[in-house]
Amino acid sequence: MDKVVAFCKRRGFIFQGSEIYGGLANTWDYGPYGVELKNNIKESWWKHFVHEREDMVGLDSSILMHPRVWEASGHIASFSDPLVDCRKCKERFRGDKIIEEHLGIEKAAGKSLKEISEIIKKHKLPCPKCGTSDFTEAREFNLMFRTHQGVLEEKASTVYMRPETAQGIFVNFRNIAAIMRKKIPFGVAQIGKAFRNEITPGNFTYRTREFEQMEIEYFIKSNDKWEKIFDQWEKSCGKWFKKLGINDKNLRTRQHNKKELSHYSKKTIDIEYKFPFGWGELMGIAYRTDYDLKRHMEYSGVDLSYFDQEANEKFIPHVIEPSFGVDRTVLTALIDAYSEDMIDNEPRVIMKLHPSIAPVQVAVFPLIKKPELIKISRKIFDDLKTKFKVEYDESGSIGKRYRRQDEIGTPYCLTIDFDTLNDKCVTIRDRDSAKQKRVKIEKIAVELQSL
Ligand SMILES: [Zn+2]
Repeated sequence: MDKVVAFCKRRGFIFQGSEIYGGLANTWDYGPYGVELKNNIKESWWKHFVHEREDMVGLDSSILMHPRVWEASGHIASFSDPLVDCRKCKERFRGDKIIEEHLGIEKAAGKSLKEISEIIKKHKLPCPKCGTSDFTEAREFNLMFRTHQGVLEEKASTVYMRPETAQGIFVNFRNIAAIMRKKIPFGVAQIGKAFRNEITPGNFTYRTREFEQMEIEYFIKSNDKWEKIFDQWEKSCGKWFKKLGINDKNLRTRQHNKKELSHYSKKTIDIEYKFPFGWGELMGIAYRTDYDLKRHMEYSGVDLSYFDQEANEKFIPHVIEPSFGVDRTVLTALIDAYSEDMIDNEPRVIMKLHPSIAPVQVAVFPLIKKPELIKISRKIFDDLKTKFKVEYDESGSIGKRYRRQDEIGTPYCLTIDFDTLNDKCVTIRDRDSAKQKRVKIEKIAVELQSL
């Protein structure tokens, strides 16, 4: 993990947030290559789950929403973690996480505040920071960020930074169903920022207080076979991770047991990735029933039921929700791709990113800085940049330039040399095998597309 964090800074993928001011804890900024990787992943997701399907549409709703939304969703009443303070070192922790670490998730899930305090005391569980076992009683800590809208800091102006993008989809359900004339089953996808004031964030960008989600609410009829639809979504999500080139061996599916399930959910699974710090959730799929739409009907007084003209029947749709973290997916892609090997008797760091998400897809080099080589290289670069993500580099030895591109995961490098002047061919070098081949200039784009 330390290697990946250091790499991310060294090569401009991820920087500490507000670094020149000593950093703001748990904030991270995506650098020039990081933002390209992140955008590629979001684009790939949108293409796979929205554009390649007929039953999906997109949405981009606002971060700030009417406070009643969070009353209806249950976030104001119960979106909280059990907080405990170490009396000795004054550090704060999640009580359930302390139990989970020592006694397993079974013992920690679904416990009340009282039970959590009792379990910690009974097993004399130690403080993760100082090792003593002297905690305060567990108490509720709401995870929503609060702020004020307008000029008056009074209760009436309180608004929340959304803790999930899902609610934006539910409150727009009526508009979308009516205007897009979508027949159930259909789904709505959204990518956007969400905020949770986590007690113990950490593991680099894995758990942060500000993060980006990619969420889908898929609306179905209650008597449809939801198990079958659920399985189809699970398969589709697995296919997408394959498209990103994530190694199958590092993925597993875990179904939540009854105690872990949210009170409204009938089934939830997580797809987990084998991070250097252990297995961790990469995405989840939950069957949320008709809980959300029903609650919004109740709190808004607006009818959110759906009229099926063919069956001449009115009903409140049920929902299956695949939910992904953008930052976690980026981190997964980086960890999964990070490798070290030996080439020409020298160690190299190589990012084996899938060509479809690599920040740079093709690098163009003149072998040496000679005007006649630069001229052709520039022309090839200009031709390719409308079709691919291309970088031009003429500084340093050719070996160094290859190494730089290997490190950021560029799958192909093109070199223009003196032979190019005569045979109108360039050398294409493959990142993983370091194998080279000569290709005609006019065939470069076709060749790259076929690789
Ligand atoms: Zn302590």
